[in-house]
Amino acid sequence: MPLDWSPLVELIRRHQTFLLMTHVRPDADGLGAQLGLADALAAIGKTARVVIASKLPPRYAFLDPKREVVEEFTAQTADNFRNVDAILVLDTGTWGQLGDFGPFMRSMTVPKAVIDHHRTQDDLGGLAFVDTSAEAAGRLSYEIIRALDAPLSPKAAHHLFMALALDTGWFRHANTTAKTFELAEELVRAGANPTPLYEQIFECASLGRLKLAGVAIQRLQVRAGGKIAFTEVVLKDYGQCGAVPGDTEDLIDYPRKIDGVEVALLFIEQADGGTKVSFRSRSADVSALAEQFNGGGHKLASGARLPDALPIAREKVLTAAEKLLLTPTAAG
Ligand code: AMP
Repeated sequence: MPLDWSPLVELIRRHQTFLLMTHVRPDADGLGAQLGLADALAAIGKTARVVIASKLPPRYAFLDPKREVVEEFTAQTADNFRNVDAILVLDTGTWGQLGDFGPFMRSMTVPKAVIDHHRTQDDLGGLAFVDTSAEAAGRLSYEIIRALDAPLSPKAAHHLFMALALDTGWFRHANTTAKTFELAEELVRAGANPTPLYEQIFECASLGRLKLAGVAIQRLQVRAGGKIAFTEVVLKDYGQCGAVPGDTEDLIDYPRKIDGVEVALLFIEQADGGTKVSFRSRSADVSALAEQFNGGGHKLASGARLPDALPIAREKVLTAAEKLLLTPTAAG
């Protein structure tokens, strides 16, 4: 059941300048949803600023090679972003995913709206348009563009296709439905170009990225009779492999690939001493698992950031994952 977009359409019609934000460590869905919507807002005479509270990951630098579109928010540059009429947050609904933008957003009295497809939601203090049945936030941007009766340019279609394709693992994850392919068809007819996009994202790896994948594969381990698989990346791996933290983005696919694995985990040591954890599953609800550690996400794909050093975080999360698999509902 599509959302009722009329309150958002009204908000957009009443205002001129929009700040479009997504989650920290922005991915193709967040960026695609932002860029697609920004293009359509510009086409109807609005000003849309695409802002991230992180560095643009090198993998997505091709989206803005001259760095003219995507602006980087930091606590130091916050004042440059105050002069907006409304804030639209795409592809997250939690404070924990907004980084330094969270305190800034709390301080802003302009209208706000969350446009998201994750289960885990905080009250970010504005309108909330959340559809957990949407496979990608890009679909929600598409629905907004249609609700606004705005033009869908070839560029916007391309960005929305990127969002749709990447949040479904290029149409292979369980969130891919017949409707996903219908939308993909419409976006390709409107100008999206999948082949170069695939090459730019999946066939332009640095040597360092592949070497890091080699390290992660070598460290694969299983627990719970093979139902849990995990691997990890520590800080010194980046220097040794010639990789950067953004190169960890797809490493969770390796534990996920092992036959018989129900829950896959990736532990990434953070510069502040904490640990980022990615959770994936075939049917168990890993959003509930991630929420135990102040994270969240989707039923089958979630994340969390623990303050503990990696070995401690690993044991805490593995213990909780083993417990989850023992509960009768875990089979989903
Ligand atoms: P990741 O493992 O970081 O790729 O995240 C998997 C999914 O969970 C993505 O859709 C993220 O947006 C979401 N996610 C990751 N970390 C968090 C968090 N701390 N809180 C809520 N959602 C998260």
